[in-house]
Amino acid sequence: MIRVGLIAHDGKKPEMVSFVVANKSFLSKVKIYATGTTGGHIEKEGFEVECLLSGPKGGDAQIAALVATGAIDLVIFFRDPLDKHPHEPDVQMLMRLCDVHNIPLATNPRTAYFILKGFEAEMHGKKA
Ligand code: PGA
Repeated sequence: MIRVGLIAHDGKKPEMVSFVVANKSFLSKVKIYATGTTGGHIEKEGFEVECLLSGPKGGDAQIAALVATGAIDLVIFFRDPLDKHPHEPDVQMLMRLCDVHNIPLATNPRTAYFILKGFEAEMHGKKA
């Protein structure tokens, strides 16, 4: 089963909710990990979610650890580029580890959409 990490900064949570609802057919078939508050919003839309700590309390770092240990296949992280974040070092660590381990990382909905299309194509036997 594909394992996906979902994170959205506060200013991007509405976009994350719209994204998961629009992509329910794919995302209802995967294992979802999410940072605490983001996960709560996604659960309300009827998804099963393994909720980790809230981002500023270490949730991003937990997703990063899952990436580092090979337990996540894709990270969708809607960052808010117009706001400051006390846990910016954790954000940087997560993005760095995605690159270290060659894990796809989408930081906006359009990119995430195309990555999901890529996974769907792979699932149907077409190697991207
Ligand atoms: P949250 O964390 O889902 O708990 O709000 C997201 C973040 O700010 O990294």
